[in-house]
Amino acid sequence: MAARSERAGLITRFAPSPTGPLHLGHAYSACLAFDLARKQGGTFLIRIEDIDRQRARPEWEAQIYEDLNWLGLTWPEPVMRQSDRQPAYEAALDRLWDMGLLYPCSCSRRDIQEAASAPQEGVPRLGPDGLVYPGTCRPGELPTGVRPRETALRLDMRRAMQRIGPERLSFVECGGSPGDETGEIGISPEALVSEIGDVVLARRDMGTSYHLSVVLDDAAQGVTDVVRGRDLFEATRIHVVLQRLLGLASPRYLHHRLIRDDTGKRLAKRDDARAIRTYRDSGLSPQDIRAKLGL
Ligand code: GLU
Repeated sequence: MAARSERAGLITRFAPSPTGPLHLGHAYSACLAFDLARKQGGTFLIRIEDIDRQRARPEWEAQIYEDLNWLGLTWPEPVMRQSDRQPAYEAALDRLWDMGLLYPCSCSRRDIQEAASAPQEGVPRLGPDGLVYPGTCRPGELPTGVRPRETALRLDMRRAMQRIGPERLSFVECGGSPGDETGEIGISPEALVSEIGDVVLARRDMGTSYHLSVVLDDAAQGVTDVVRGRDLFEATRIHVVLQRLLGLASPRYLHHRLIRDDTGKRLAKRDDARAIRTYRDSGLSPQDIRAKLGL
């Protein structure tokens, strides 16, 4: 895999999960990233986000390549696949464990729901990963010894903030936040603790998580500009924390508007009516798709 130093200039990527058909929202993300790279003489990469082995299917992956090719996009081969990257994820988990920032958690979704809605907890708080973890499994003492396997591991956000210390946390937004802010977006350590909390970095069934993998893979691919939907804007705060803890540079971020259906709802994977395949079959051209997306 090409390291940052081997590729000059801007590097961006499209990182689909092969768990369903490519729809208009994906096409928008992919074309925006591709056009940005083309305009700047940069590189557009693909990464297959297939850590969810239960849901990822080779047929969907094949369909993604076919649809992207049909749209006129090209990219260097081989593509990065998250299913090949487990050793890198394990190494990062070891580092975070050795820093005393992870702890095992055996809570089910239901346990979290119940603990978070206990009267003394007040109103349950919702973060980018669902309910903010109420801390049931968080140990008082730093966990030591060998990192446990086959269990979920959470990041102790308060300790992570102590470790980072007074350094200002921020990232550069080139697209738009949900409130349309651009430029340097500051991240408040207090809000990280109260609004995001102890996120899961290794899921029991995966040995990693979206947040950890995306940060490590963007760094390994030398991505300078992440183009993705605004639904991931809040998660960027988590990604910046992981980049600081692991000594990785933060890319610039361009969060784009979400493509909605005719009733204003966000498109979902199962929304086959807006699958690129369906448009192709009904005789639309790639130019028609671009026109539909305002590109
Ligand atoms: N794999 C994610 C998705 O399909 C994209 C993640 C990202 O661009 O950071 O929604």
